[in-house]
Amino acid sequence: VKQQVVNPAEVKKKVVATVSLSGCFGCHMSMLDMDLDLLDLIEVVSFNRSPFTDIKDFTQRCDVGLIEGGCCSDENVEVLRKFRESCDILVSVGACAINGNLPALRNWMPVEQTLREAYLETPTADSTALIPHHEDLPKILDKVYPCHEVVKIDYYIPGCPPGGDHIYKVVQNLLLGTNYEVPYEKFKYD
Ligand code: SF4
Repeated sequence: VKQQVVNPAEVKKKVVATVSLSGCFGCHMSMLDMDLDLLDLIEVVSFNRSPFTDIKDFTQRCDVGLIEGGCCSDENVEVLRKFRESCDILVSVGACAINGNLPALRNWMPVEQTLREAYLETPTADSTALIPHHEDLPKILDKVYPCHEVVKIDYYIPGCPPGGDHIYKVVQNLLLGTNYEVPYEKFKYD
């Protein structure tokens, strides 16, 4: 039997990208928790736009895009729409992307009150305190929106944050057609 040796360098790598919108970066930290699995992943995957690579443009078509965080500003919405256009499969990763989570706690009050409480009425604000205002700053939205209310989302990975092994296995499922299911009791919110 003649064995065919596959050179990993000749395998056409799938392209994965990640963005962080209105979140705490915990979901990205969880992705780094893949540890040695990450080394397996980069044998078959290349990372495009991502805080991991510091690539910020949307010029390359991506097979899978992973989103952390919901939309709290016009900039978040713009980034998410461009990300949708550039990714074949889009995945909301973590509670912030899926339902707004902690940033959405402000949704029950008017945005003016949110800004006042955050900048003018906190215990550390003095008489010189101002609400930041500049044309270059992103504009805050009336509330924090989960990603699926802005663009079509194909898959969801719940958790806060979801475990690195779950994120890894979901990416494997999507790219390689494996069939891993996350048991409900493994989802964590801590
Ligand atoms: Fe952070 Fe949790 Fe939001 Fe992920 S889901 S960005 S860990 S607060």
